[in-house]
Amino acid sequence: RRTITRLPDWLKTPIPSPGSNPNYGKIKADLRGLNLHTVCEEARCPNIGECWGGDNKNAATATIMLMGDTCTRGCRFCSVKTNRKPAPLDPHEPENTAEALARWGLGYVVLTSVDRDDLADGGARHFAETIRRIKQKKPTLLVEALTGDFMGDLEMVKIVAESGLDVYAHNVETVEGLTPYVRDRRATFRQSLKVLEHVKTVKPEMITKTSIMLGLGETEQEIWDTLRELRKVNVDVVTFGQYMRPTKRHLKVEKYVTPEEFEIWRQRALELGFLYCASGPLVRSSYKAGEAFIENVLR
Ligand code: SF4
Ligand code: SF4
Repeated sequence: RRTITRLPDWLKTPIPSPGSNPNYGKIKADLRGLNLHTVCEEARCPNIGECWGGDNKNAATATIMLMGDTCTRGCRFCSVKTNRKPAPLDPHEPENTAEALARWGLGYVVLTSVDRDDLADGGARHFAETIRRIKQKKPTLLVEALTGDFMGDLEMVKIVAESGLDVYAHNVETVEGLTPYVRDRRATFRQSLKVLEHVKTVKPEMITKTSIMLGLGETEQEIWDTLRELRKVNVDVVTFGQYMRPTKRHLKVEKYVTPEEFEIWRQRALELGFLYCASGPLVRSSYKAGEAFIENVLR
């Protein structure tokens, strides 16, 4: 029997056709040649036209996935492949990534990765090396790193935080009470707060950022509590997006949050003192990140 999943109207977006954007062809060809992956393409992100194009060229954003396509963790909302022993790191990846990024007409890049609990440093040095090389080749390119929690090893957070990046992002993903059901059991809400807090300890001027998915069954009170906890450790930017179930083996969507409710949370976040908040059904952690940074943080 076929199950029909009914999506509310606001989630039915036309498939973007970024082909008309000159950046698109260049990026796509380079990705294939250099064995690099973008989350934008692999997750078939509906925002690709807006992000890779960008009305303001300096703000065009893409999200690169480092350290392979296989994660050592298995979060219950995420469709990335899981394996305890993924392939070794590609030692050429930092250089290839930097070279490609220097060629593309982007103003902002988000570097993210799978969690590599199999590596002694969790991949922190590989991350940092990539950022250093990007900044050597194109110092004007703004770099955001979206990292895992390095199993709470704050030394590794420091290595990334001191590599020359502009924004340090780490996602709490959901409220504290749901964390054990939503994220891999090695992740905890408190550990994630410590990561974000430590970034500010080693680099007080660094912009920190986190993302929360709505629609997993969290209560309004729990969202308030989460925002307050994040402000306590001086997180600067928060984003809210709708949780979408990648396959039937993943957690069910408990609620489709309306665009109006997302807007209310955006305003509440700003009232609590966040510098910026992107909030909407299709918002992803990196949604138009370049534009947001340039308009709200550099201003
Ligand atoms: Fe997916 Fe990240 Fe969880 Fe790995 S750690 S399963 S990449 S959300
Ligand atoms: Fe890529 Fe993120 Fe933009 Fe989606 S929202 S296209 S993943 S940069």
